[in-house]
Amino acid sequence: MIQKPYLKAFPDAKGYFGKFGGAFLPPELEEQFKKIEEAYLTIGNSHNFIRELRDIRKHYQGRPTPVYYARRLSEFIGGARIYLKREDLNHTGAHKLNHCMGEALLAKYLGKKKLIAETGAGQHGVALATAAAYFGLECEIHMGEVDIAKEHPNVVRMRVLGAKVVPVTFGAKTLKEAVDSAFVAYLKDPENSIYCIGSVVGPHPFPMMVRDFQSVVGIEAREQFFEMTGNLPDNLVACVGGGSNAMGLFSAFIDDPCEMYGVEPGGKGTKLGEHAASLTYGSEGILHGFNSIMLKNEAGEPAAVHSVASGLDYPSVGPEHAYLNSIARTKVGIANDAETIQAFYDLSHYEGIIPALESAHAVAFAMKLAKEKPYESILVNLSGRGDKDIDFVVANYKPEDYM
Ligand SMILES: *Cc1c(COP(=O)(O)O)cnc(C)c1O
Repeated sequence: MIQKPYLKAFPDAKGYFGKFGGAFLPPELEEQFKKIEEAYLTIGNSHNFIRELRDIRKHYQGRPTPVYYARRLSEFIGGARIYLKREDLNHTGAHKLNHCMGEALLAKYLGKKKLIAETGAGQHGVALATAAAYFGLECEIHMGEVDIAKEHPNVVRMRVLGAKVVPVTFGAKTLKEAVDSAFVAYLKDPENSIYCIGSVVGPHPFPMMVRDFQSVVGIEAREQFFEMTGNLPDNLVACVGGGSNAMGLFSAFIDDPCEMYGVEPGGKGTKLGEHAASLTYGSEGILHGFNSIMLKNEAGEPAAVHSVASGLDYPSVGPEHAYLNSIARTKVGIANDAETIQAFYDLSHYEGIIPALESAHAVAFAMKLAKEKPYESILVNLSGRGDKDIDFVVANYKPEDYM
């Protein structure tokens, strides 16, 4: 495959996208992350690794996922033509398995026995537990007690898949403490285990590795869209939590004349704590081992965040998004909770596709954009399916109010 000039140049050798990224690690972990980077650059680019990953994508994950023209939704809006890249049809129902299979395959080549990670809402935990089952590796997922109570179905899924869920009982007992707990567990046995990050965040090399493993989304979509329409899409739209599904799509189009919109969760208001729109309202800062744009409270610490989609409530964003936004190669879109719920129902009614609430943010923004750009095409990354969200949505937002 021909490497595009941008992808070759970014990140630089130290893991920076402009001033964003890097690896801010305790000394004990520096060496381990260096080893992961070296392994990725050699093994990850080897013929055998690439061939094995390609086979997994095809025969296990069910790739390529289709690109679909959402005709009824487009006609309902009466604006631009909206297309969906159907990551909801990827095995396990979301894009996350794309990088988990890559990370687990690297673990296999390195002779590791155990995958360790944290999870917030449980989506990364389920995807990693799936990959561990496929490769016959042990899997240990650290999860805050608060999240364990909230995300019961995903906890059950992880256990069914054979993963060990470790409850984290200190501090606020949510994602941040789960990260700390997972790092401690990893440090105890770095020879036999590997730490697997769930988005294009964390210290170098993870933002690069996860982007590259997710790039299959963009590579497929670019070819499929061109074959369907004879053109490239005018606009790309994807939701951004950490930013992995968005980078997966964007990376294949970065040297093309396409507008790219990363959609942030506007939540229920513009005050700190009411949203999780890091690029929209945040400032530069270091969190979880990398420099990026983050939401801070008055003490300069990571702020409390909110989104109706639990997969988007992260107070920072992948460094590559911070960079691409700073040079105006990407634009930031926003969709609030109310618009997202409306889009969740609209896509379900008009297309028979129930989106994940995360993905519904992208759909909601695309519907606004379609009215502004009536003669253009919009390709949305539908990052996941909404089965996991149905009970919550119906209990809080009655279907009859959204007909
Ligand atoms: C986790 C998740 C996201 C957010 O993660 P990114 O790294 O920003 O892509 C989006 N959609 C779905 C369905 C998810 O599970």
